[in-house]
Amino acid sequence: MMETAIVVVDEIYDFITGGSMACIHSEESVAATVENIRRHPEVPVLFVCDHHPANHCSFKEQGGPWPSHCVQGTHGAEIAKELLPFVREELVFYKGCDPAIEQYSGFDGRNEAGQSLAEVLELLGTELVFVTGIATEFCVKETSEDLLKAGFKVSVLKDCLGWVDQDGHEKSLPLLEAEGIRVIS
Ligand SMILES: [Zn+2]
Repeated sequence: MMETAIVVVDEIYDFITGGSMACIHSEESVAATVENIRRHPEVPVLFVCDHHPANHCSFKEQGGPWPSHCVQGTHGAEIAKELLPFVREELVFYKGCDPAIEQYSGFDGRNEAGQSLAEVLELLGTELVFVTGIATEFCVKETSEDLLKAGFKVSVLKDCLGWVDQDGHEKSLPLLEAEGIRVIS
């Protein structure tokens, strides 16, 4: 059997209903991700988290495209509480920490020990990665593409996604499939 891992992207409060960048299908995404993790208790779960300094370049005040979000030390940067029972600190990877660099992909995210997501997936012997989270068109897409490029098999769990824009979401899924990423329920 293939060694698998689940990568949960940005299931954090600023992307969930009530947050500064609340996404479509965000609460459903959290609930479906929890269900999926429960169904596969033996599979390691890695969390990717947007984790910005207050002056991050992607924020409108700095000339970027987004409202301020996921600022380090705020509630908006915390993982949804429903997922906390599955969080292991060494398997949480932070991205967007440098004020000058936008980072949609979790691939280069680092844990507290400075290890990258890719590095830890390798250490776990992972061959197949299931990706869930928010948002389909940005961080889920880029994380999945980078994992595929690095040689992992990647399956995106469609029911476990949230998105910024309905049209963007619907257009992203066939693009991912064309690249060799499986999109499954
Ligand atoms: Zn961000």
